[in-house]
Amino acid sequence: RAKKDGHGSYRFFEAEMDERMQARRHLEIDLRRALALREFVLVYQPQVNLRTNTVTGFEALLRWQCPTRGAVSPLDFIPLAEETGVIIPIGEWVLRTACREAAKWSPAHIVAVNVSAVQFGNPNLVSTIISALAESGLDPRRLELEITESVMLDARGTAHAVLQVLRTMGVRVALDDFGTGYSSLGYLRSFPFDKIKIDQSFVRGTSNDPVGAAIVRAIAELGQSLGMATVAEGVETADQLARVASDGCTEVQGYYFSRPMAPDQIESYLSTRNRTNLL
Ligand code: C2E
Ligand code: MG
Ligand code: MG
Ligand code: MG
Repeated sequence: RAKKDGHGSYRFFEAEMDERMQARRHLEIDLRRALALREFVLVYQPQVNLRTNTVTGFEALLRWQCPTRGAVSPLDFIPLAEETGVIIPIGEWVLRTACREAAKWSPAHIVAVNVSAVQFGNPNLVSTIISALAESGLDPRRLELEITESVMLDARGTAHAVLQVLRTMGVRVALDDFGTGYSSLGYLRSFPFDKIKIDQSFVRGTSNDPVGAAIVRAIAELGQSLGMATVAEGVETADQLARVASDGCTEVQGYYFSRPMAPDQIESYLSTRNRTNLL
């Protein structure tokens, strides 16, 4: 009897696995189709320099407008896109689109693009970036790549070499989600990042979160010593803004200033902001 039950639950497990595999297959196919049908768009979120109170640039964030699933968050499809490799063509589209759209902005503003570790495994990454820059006419110094520590984890150091090449071209490099990985400090030593983005989890603690505040202060100080800008991510309230400013962060990104916006909203956002002086 026990044996029969065991068998039954094994079957159940198998069916469930099957269903999940099916769902993943569907999602993968849908992602490829989405690219072909132009269902992806980029939205842009401003980064504000706290000393000058000006917008330094915008981070490009991917959105999938799926006719059947609705608006799908990148958190729900980037991991599978990475596992299946679909992130390569999607990432290419993101790079080309971000460069093309940013080339229309005032030359004062940079565009930050998230690039995943899997993309660094693709030998064509550098040539994709070169042609995205050439096609758009965007100054390489206005392109910033946001990478996470996982990019630096490859044993052969290819990502490191690729970053060096891009750096020589003038492309900027930011370390994203800082503080959430394993050996962040070592990476700071191995590559001269332009910017450290302090993860939201440290920024969004309440006013009685002395540990979070201590971490933000320590990273800001580290950034200052190393000549790297420090961006507090996920600032939602005036209170958080005041705290990260006094903790020494040089820039801020978050809903407090703006949610990510469609490209055609950028111009009016900037002109309204200049008139009203939001800080
Ligand atoms: P990320 O690069 O750390 O981007 C910041 C995320 O925080 C974005 O989520 C942004 O919308 C959100 N955010 C910004 N300010 C606030 C705030 O004040 N409060 C809260 N609650 N959230 C805030 P999003 O757009 O959902 O993107 C999630 C992640 O997906 C990104 O994290 C990034 O890792 C990845 N991603 C997004 N676009 C791309 C892309 O084009 N390529 C790749 N490879 N990954 C991407
Ligand atoms: Mg990012
Ligand atoms: Mg981040
Ligand atoms: Mg993230």
